[in-house]
Amino acid sequence: MSSQTSSFQLDGRRALITGACKGIGLELARGLGAAGATVVINDRNAGKARLIAGQLREAGIGAEVAVFDVTDRPGLFEAINAFEAQTGAIDILVNNAGIQRRAPLEDFDANDWHDLMRVNLDGVFHVSQAVARHMIARRRGKIINICSVQSELARPTIAPYAASKGAVKMLTKGMCAEWARHGIQANGLAPGYFATEMNRALVDDQAFSEWLCKRTPAGRWGRVEELCGAAVFLASSASDFINGQTIFVDGGLTSVV
Ligand code: NAP
Repeated sequence: MSSQTSSFQLDGRRALITGACKGIGLELARGLGAAGATVVINDRNAGKARLIAGQLREAGIGAEVAVFDVTDRPGLFEAINAFEAQTGAIDILVNNAGIQRRAPLEDFDANDWHDLMRVNLDGVFHVSQAVARHMIARRRGKIINICSVQSELARPTIAPYAASKGAVKMLTKGMCAEWARHGIQANGLAPGYFATEMNRALVDDQAFSEWLCKRTPAGRWGRVEELCGAAVFLASSASDFINGQTIFVDGGLTSVV
């Protein structure tokens, strides 16, 4: 293996992925694990996290668990500090946990607005701060924030989601501005449209699906495994001089009108 390709290997690295029991988070855990990382499966439910970690271990991937809710600041600080003290260093953090709420903006429920911001934006702030304090002490770390095509483009009924994801893109640049000098690279990974539970309503809507396939240069929905290449790249030393960027994995959607 050349030094160029070996720089993509994640052996000896530990990657915490929030919301890792299904959808994109689970697929990223598989992808980072296949590249050699030990993955730390986060979920709010301990039983679910242990089950998924067990399945990954059976598939030959090193897997541990960290149970917390990304909106519970004291709880997640306790869990992350305990993990670092008892199990070991978190070298890579993937801020993946996220939710969606849909309604016309003029009728959007204020509680739904706050729920979205608490998970999609505040969660990234809290978890990153808890993990980055350890990374800063070690003078190295990789942070991948899961953004969205909605970090750039709005759509009717999801203006608050777009606001949260636009903010995550800018928070990524802020992390670069403050933490690059501590040896941390923070980048965004922005998926286009992928058929996960979050998008069930869209997958089931044939008219939307047809529109999406016409709107996307690749002519189709994304497959979750197609996010793993960019995630491995951003988690590995191959990307050591890339910081504050957001990579769109969207079949070309944000490049064309
Ligand atoms: P998903 O299948 O609904 O998975 C979301 C995950 O986040 C679940 O494991 C969920 O746990 C977890 N989660 C929610 N609230 C949490 C909290 N407070 N604390 C800890 N975990 C929490 O969605 P997905 O499609 O995989 O989305 C993953 C990420 O990609 C999100 O940030 C989303 O915005 C982003 N994204 C998705 C798409 C797409 O096309 N699917 C496109 C662009 C961006 P529970 O199962 O317990 O709720």
